[in-house]
Amino acid sequence: MAQRTLSIVKPDAVRKGFTGAILAEIDRGGFGIVAIKKLSISKEQAEGFYAVHKERPFFDGLTTFMSSGPLVLLVLEKDNAIADLRKLMGATNPANAEEGTIRKRFAGSIQENAVHGSDAEDTAAFEIGYWFAGYELI
Ligand code: GDP
Repeated sequence: MAQRTLSIVKPDAVRKGFTGAILAEIDRGGFGIVAIKKLSISKEQAEGFYAVHKERPFFDGLTTFMSSGPLVLLVLEKDNAIADLRKLMGATNPANAEEGTIRKRFAGSIQENAVHGSDAEDTAAFEIGYWFAGYELI
């Protein structure tokens, strides 16, 4: 059954001009784009999105990075979208990412790692609702 997931082309990838190439990979992976928008977010908005990580040592750096420039938010849809996007993205640390994955090709570091993808159904629902209103998802 078709499943939805939240993806982000992170500020490092947007800054380096990789948005189009990453969207092409997502398209080749068979994902439909339900909704897409490019915007700059505040540090507070980034902190709310990553609240689950607020006790982690990288929280401040991560939220500063995510609010450092424009990013592209995407709601993607396909069968098995959550797991398939995680596979297409590759490991969090690009040094450990498999050949051909988005992070292997486009990420610079464990923090500035080009893309985000929800990791489970409950987090996907939270993340989609965090960035998109219902009327944007028709
Ligand atoms: P993901 O699901 O693969 O994005 O990874 P996580 O949910 O564990 O972490 C969220 C994001 O925090 C990652 O995508 C990275 O941008 C960042 N991050 C994760 N682990 C580290 C780390 O050890 N150091 C730093 N600086 N950033 C990290």
